[in-house]
Amino acid sequence: MERTGGDEVEVVSEADYWVGRVKSIRRFTVRDADVRAPYKPLLLLWMIGRVVGGQSAAVSFKDAELDLKLLMHRYRLGRSVRVANPFVYLGTSPELWRVEDSSGNDVSKMPQATKESPVFLREEAVGALKPEFEFALHDAAVRTAVVNALLQMEFPETQHEEILRDVNLGHVVAVAQAARDPKFKSTVMRAYEDRCSFCGYDLRLGGSPVGIDAAHVQMRTKGGPDRIENGLALCVQHHRLFDAGALGLDQDHRILVSEHLNLSDHESAARIKSLVGALIRRPLRRYRLPAPKHIDWHTKNLFKDPAR
Ligand SMILES: [Zn+2]
Repeated sequence: MERTGGDEVEVVSEADYWVGRVKSIRRFTVRDADVRAPYKPLLLLWMIGRVVGGQSAAVSFKDAELDLKLLMHRYRLGRSVRVANPFVYLGTSPELWRVEDSSGNDVSKMPQATKESPVFLREEAVGALKPEFEFALHDAAVRTAVVNALLQMEFPETQHEEILRDVNLGHVVAVAQAARDPKFKSTVMRAYEDRCSFCGYDLRLGGSPVGIDAAHVQMRTKGGPDRIENGLALCVQHHRLFDAGALGLDQDHRILVSEHLNLSDHESAARIKSLVGALIRRPLRRYRLPAPKHIDWHTKNLFKDPAR
C-alpha cells in the first residue's frame, strides 16, 4: 500500500496500515494515554471473531448487546459496563466502524440523548465493520497483526489466549510474543531469589526455576517500564490472578484479594484467604520494591475493586 507525502513515497504494508488505524482508535473521555480503555478493542475483537466465523460484518445493537455485555464485564475496567458507549463511539473511527439508524443516518453524530438512549439503540442501531477493513481481515497476515495489536494495547499477556477463545479466534490467530527486555526477567528473578513474592513457591526442574514469572505491575504497553520497581516475581497462578485483577497490592505492599474472586472451593479458597493483608516477600536488600505509582496504576486499571 502506498501513501504519498510530499516527494517521498512511503511504502506501508497492508498489515502495518491497519495496525496503525486500530492503534489510533479515539478514546472516550480519557486523556491519559496510560489508562486502559478495553471496550472498543473488545468490540472489534468480537466482530473479527464473527466475520472470521462466517457471520455478517453488520450487527444490530439488540443482537449484540447481551454477548458484548458478558464479554466486556469479564474484562472490565471498573465496576459497571455500558455496552452502548463503545458500540456508538467506535463510530468516531469511521475507517473501522459505522453505526447507522434504519434510515442510514450516522448514529455517532446524533445528539447525545439520542445515541445513548437504550430504547433508540435497541430499535434502530446497526453497527458494521467498514467493508475495506472487513476485506483486509480476510488476509491472515493482516488479521494476525490487527488482533495482536488490539490484545497488546489493552490486555495483560496472561489474558490473550483466554480472550481469543472468548471471541472465537482461538484456533484462527496465534498469540504473538511481545518484544521483551531479557534483563528485566533476570533482574526480577535474582531480586526475589526465584520465588513467588506472594506465596513463596520456588520449585525447580533440574536446576532451573519452573512455573515462575517476572510480572509487570503496570503493563508495558501502558507506560510500565522494564525496571525492578515495576516488577514482581510471581508463580504462574498468582501472575494470572494479579493480571486478572483478582489480586492486588496496597501502598504498604500488602496483598489485596478482590471481593469478586469466588472463594467457594474449600482448599484453594483457604490458600487465597491466607494471602489477604499479608506482606509480600521483599526483594534482596539492594533491589527496590514496587513503586507507589505503578501500584496505583494496577489498582486503578486492573484490580477488581473492592478488596476483602
Ligand atoms: Zn504464588
